[in-house]
Amino acid sequence: MDTATIAAAKQKVQQRGFLDIDLDPTLDLFAEIERLKKEKNAVVLAHYYQEPDIQDVADYIGDSLGLAQQAEKTTADMIVFAGVHFMAETAKILNPTKKVVIPDLMAGCSLSDSCPPPLFKRFKEEHPDHIVVSYINCSAGIKALSDVIVTSSNARVIVDSFPKDQKIIFAPDKNLGGYINKVTGRDMLLWNGACMVHEIFSLEKITKLKQRHPNAKFIAHPECEEPVLRIADYIGSTTGLLKFTQTDPANEFIVATETGILHQMMKSSPGKTFIPAPPTNSCACNDCPHMKLNSLEKLYLCMEYETPDINMDEELRLAAKKPIDRMLEISAKAGL
Ligand code: SF4
Repeated sequence: MDTATIAAAKQKVQQRGFLDIDLDPTLDLFAEIERLKKEKNAVVLAHYYQEPDIQDVADYIGDSLGLAQQAEKTTADMIVFAGVHFMAETAKILNPTKKVVIPDLMAGCSLSDSCPPPLFKRFKEEHPDHIVVSYINCSAGIKALSDVIVTSSNARVIVDSFPKDQKIIFAPDKNLGGYINKVTGRDMLLWNGACMVHEIFSLEKITKLKQRHPNAKFIAHPECEEPVLRIADYIGSTTGLLKFTQTDPANEFIVATETGILHQMMKSSPGKTFIPAPPTNSCACNDCPHMKLNSLEKLYLCMEYETPDINMDEELRLAAKKPIDRMLEISAKAGL
């Protein structure tokens, strides 16, 4: 690749979100990524919602909690974060001296975007006697305004760690917050945010699907809306759902979360059948358009040229780190 092409692509990276460079189609990206991992002492962390090729080159695949734990303990010099922006940002908050690169800077999150820090700050000021528990799917600005961060794997345990009479604001996901209210018997004040992927599952289509597959277990992520959760045989984090399909004796599962997780489900239980739960639109399954902005090509390019990378104001980073540290401590004590 000539240096002028690379320099021009680097100049446009903030605007385009990724290095817009045409790659030689014969390049073996799998081999190249392995080479770069060794040369640069890099680790590839990928979320379960990434496309199968990315999952297959990852050193670690996980949900938000697992990825934050891996990011905290890695000894690599460079973290390649195949996920969305707030996840790579979390890795940077935990690893200020390491380079954190992301395949596409524009890989955002509708849930995170539904909670802008200036609005949330005002909301928090209106409820001075409440503490703030925030789901990890939020920006560094929201994390900095929070007392503790949770993921769908540990939200229940962390909320339970506070006295019953402690007033709590839960942000930004109203569906996860509502579910945690239900299972803990709390009355947390909920920020009105939601994930565009999990809030559009069709109760009607799922009910019909269940009738057509009477032996299938219906499993759902707690970001789904309450009527969908009400008919689920099991509700859990992405990792929880994966483990359930591995251990439950059923041979068929209808899965209400982003379809990327089906790759790991099929790999770990090849004899079982997995049916993605249908959304209310005309699609048969439910992909997160933000997660799917990343591709193997973009992943290779961000590793090779070490851009786009995540940078952050130090004061904001320190304020955002405190509630994440608290989450990691409580999770470790609880054996999560
Ligand atoms: S699946 Fe939902 S919560 Fe996850 S990144 Fe996509 S929009 Fe955000």
